[in-house]
Amino acid sequence: MLSTTELGLSVLDAIADAIVLIDEQGNIELFNRAASEIFGYAPEEVLGRNVKVLMPEPVSSQHDLYLRRYQETSIPHIIGVGRDVEGRHKDGRVLALWLRIGELRTPDGRRRFIGSMRDIAERRRLEEELRNANTRMVAEIEDRKKIELELLQHKHELERHTVELEYSRTSLEQVAQQTVELAEGLELQRQELTLAKQHSDYLASHDTLTGLLNRRAFMETLNLAANSALRTNTLMAVMFIDLDKFKGVNDLAGHARGDELLKTVAGILTTNLRDTDIAGRLGGDEFAVVSNLATKSDPESFRRLAERLRQSLSLPVKTDYGVVDVRATIGVAIYPTDATDMDELLTCADRAMYAGKNRGRDVVVFYAEVGALA
Ligand code: GH3
Ligand code: MG
Repeated sequence: MLSTTELGLSVLDAIADAIVLIDEQGNIELFNRAASEIFGYAPEEVLGRNVKVLMPEPVSSQHDLYLRRYQETSIPHIIGVGRDVEGRHKDGRVLALWLRIGELRTPDGRRRFIGSMRDIAERRRLEEELRNANTRMVAEIEDRKKIELELLQHKHELERHTVELEYSRTSLEQVAQQTVELAEGLELQRQELTLAKQHSDYLASHDTLTGLLNRRAFMETLNLAANSALRTNTLMAVMFIDLDKFKGVNDLAGHARGDELLKTVAGILTTNLRDTDIAGRLGGDEFAVVSNLATKSDPESFRRLAERLRQSLSLPVKTDYGVVDVRATIGVAIYPTDATDMDELLTCADRAMYAGKNRGRDVVVFYAEVGALA
């Protein structure tokens, strides 16, 4: 049978909490197994020593003061109240403890204090972890909020850019469309201008009634033909054609009929010429032809052409007053034989034609023969 003391001590050692009993001066009187495990001291190492040995600074130094004050004032500060405190392990480590102090009066009439303690390092660690986890979570939530805000801002920006892009695209399309229309308009204008220029060039160089070259254009062509003849060392003829009795058509059949006849003459000339020969209307009933038909070995080919033209231009016109027997007198001058200047050459042809008129009309006269005729 165990004594009550032995039973008490066994019970104390079996309790999970550390139990430390001190007297009014703070000397340790009881130190159970759990206390040994927490503080690292064997009971015999601490029994009789002041409980301050189990406390870290500054509590350790102040403990005497606390005890004295309580004894003097009996105002409890920590008695009966559980609280978190720091303890000191034998190896110097600071321990996190939960402490509750009770006061007891032992049968010998003395006052003692009993402290029961628990190591709350693990709880602290968990609390710390919880706090850290909480901090991380808060930080993560903040980060997420920030990211969401940024995403929202990007989304708004994107929407704004999309609207701007759409606007720019529409504007660009409009500009492109306007440019195309402008280009089409310009192209049309350019074509119209080209046509107008061609028409104006044509008008400037052609006789409006017959469509043949006018005097100015004929003279230009004559100069080009002369250059060509000079280069190729060939002969060139200019034929001055004046209708005989043309005035009679105007007088007896009317001016319009005269115009008709002038167009007919132009057609006959064109039909009887080669592609390289050119006809022009110098004015009134005067026409001219330039031909490089002949080589030097065959100058007579000019006479054959002139004769053919003369015969083709036998154009009797019936009027209410009888037939006007329209014919043609043709004067021919040869380049470079008769003249090398084109105005001069045309004058030679004109003089040859004039000689033909004097000779009775409806003839071909070469300038070379004019002297003999005179
Ligand atoms: P000749 O045999 O001497 O050449 O006599 P002709 O009757 O042919 O008279 P001439 O060559 O001297 O006169 C040409 C006439 O042509 C004078 C003019 O009234 C007429 N004439 C000039 N230009 C035109 C024209 O564009 N149309 C018409 N219908 N007649 C014109
Ligand atoms: Mg005439």
